[in-house]
Amino acid sequence: MTYAIAPHAIPAIPVTGTDMRFPVHRIYCIGRNYADHAREMGATADRANPIFFSKPADAIVIDDGDVPYPPATSDLHHEVEMVVALATGGRDIPVARALDHVYGYAVGLDLTRRDLQAIAKAKGNPWDAAKGFDHSAPVSALRLASEIGHPTSNRLSLTVNGEMRQQTDTGSMIFSVAEIIHELSRLYELQSGDLIFTGTPAGVAVLKRGDRFHAELAGVAMLEGKLV
Ligand code: MN
Repeated sequence: MTYAIAPHAIPAIPVTGTDMRFPVHRIYCIGRNYADHAREMGATADRANPIFFSKPADAIVIDDGDVPYPPATSDLHHEVEMVVALATGGRDIPVARALDHVYGYAVGLDLTRRDLQAIAKAKGNPWDAAKGFDHSAPVSALRLASEIGHPTSNRLSLTVNGEMRQQTDTGSMIFSVAEIIHELSRLYELQSGDLIFTGTPAGVAVLKRGDRFHAELAGVAMLEGKLV
């Protein structure tokens, strides 16, 4: 067999302290996972109905690379999030076994074309164009769970041009990492290589060309970059 065209490169994330890269299969994201962010969006967090969406695997931006300002928006927003990488997958994974599937953790930005999202919400349309655009998922290097354990209560923060924009403790997530894995595995067969963005706290706001961001998940990972 030969491919009809050259096969696409597999998007991959550096693993801290190694020369290995983690190949990304899919990127899942949960919405409204911090009560203060749900409130600022005029919504309420609902434990009965987790909201999931996805981004293409090749939306990642690695190595603190520049992020090209996306087309078709004048309201690009940052959402700083803890990111989980899966070593193994499965269906109907029980909460009690969910963390066994985790390879490591990172910090990332769920970049959002907020103006397109507002239109989609108003019309009842899908969020894909608001969330799943090119370069919409800057992500730090991964830290191995086998080294650092499973972070349950860590400071998550984002500054833009040195000014604090978002900060929280990941212990205030509405769905824990284990619960998110469990819920996703009821909808999809999770696979090794899947990434999960675990939601953002309050303080989402505009990013402009030239802005420099610095995201940190304390004790785990740091991410820097610039909008160009
Ligand atoms: Mn988000």
